Amino acid sequence: MTEREEPAEHGPEHEGAAAGSQTWPTCPSCGAEVAPEDGYCEECGADLLVRRSEPPAADPGACRNPQCSNTSYADGYCDQCGSPAADPRDRLERDLGPVAGVSDRGLRHSRNEDDMALAVIGDRDGPPTPVIVVCDGVSASYKPETASAAAALAAREQLVLALRRGENPQSATLAAFEEAHKAVSALPPDPADETNGRASTMVTVVVGARELTVGWVGDARVYWLGAEPRRLTADDSWAGRMISDGTLTEEEAFKSPLAHTILRWLGPGAPEDPANLAVFEPDGPGLVLACSDGLWNYVPDADDLAHLASGGFGGLLATASALAAVALEGGGHDNITAVLAAWPPRAPEPGAAEQTAEINATPVEGTHL
Ligand SMILES: [Zn+2]
Ligand SMILES: [Zn+2]
Repeated sequence: MTEREEPAEHGPEHEGAAAGSQTWPTCPSCGAEVAPEDGYCEECGADLLVRRSEPPAADPGACRNPQCSNTSYADGYCDQCGSPAADPRDRLERDLGPVAGVSDRGLRHSRNEDDMALAVIGDRDGPPTPVIVVCDGVSASYKPETASAAAALAAREQLVLALRRGENPQSATLAAFEEAHKAVSALPPDPADETNGRASTMVTVVVGARELTVGWVGDARVYWLGAEPRRLTADDSWAGRMISDGTLTEEEAFKSPLAHTILRWLGPGAPEDPANLAVFEPDGPGLVLACSDGLWNYVPDADDLAHLASGGFGGLLATASALAAVALEGGGHDNITAVLAAWPPRAPEPGAAEQTAEINATPVEGTHL
């Protein structure tokens, strides 16, 4: 089992990656060359085996008030009971088979500022490559839910594009963070205060057949939940720095009101450094979990997360739901996003969503709230 933090090489090599020397993917059905962004072969119409999670629905759905089934809103409020309007991002559940996730508003926030974007890149001759992006909009920034959405989408598309072009997962990951940063930076700032731009944190995972390639900026996390569970990311936060410096213990650091202050983000004013990168080679089967702090605040320990995820929920989506339920049972103080992929990656088996989650809300010690 090895993990190494790459001194991420930065720079212009990502630009021009589409230059003529690249190997372009071919249609698995007819062999015609296709562009990496194509979903279908222009020659024969074959599905090019890239599956993406759906964006949030346009329709907001039923009123948040459980006593009200109204679905019409005016000026952001239910026009029957006056509750704040429902939002499709209140609860997102996405299941692509080898990767599935949940994003939930939680119980205390008025909207879900987290987002996730998933993909599975199929391969006719080998296992598929699941791709995970989890973003958490920075609460103090302007319209953080737009920053997380823009970052997640831009990163996912860049990862799909680069991986289908045959780029290695590390350079694909670095390029995805650059694209996400550009996408967030391109959003207009607060018209009332132009210094207040938009900002999001982000983690990405490329679930390869031999290794997991993890990228991150900010304090969303990735965990390996296998025989020896462990965290694969180190928070870009005040607490994370104090712990890595050896200045404070984890327990001490998280008692500080500064604990969650992030030191890196995507968007205007962000430090220019390339994203953090880690490559992890599992030595046996397991799950990879990408999550926002709305989950890990309640269950920070990798062993505890592995224990909770081993509950036999009958599918990745049900297991992700069960993890999110632990945070909701604990108070749902923040937005919660939990995405799981199985390793080694297997061929898609959609339909796991239909299985019922048994909610395992075993209290876990060591919460930071
Ligand atoms: Zn074709
Ligand atoms: Zn209502």
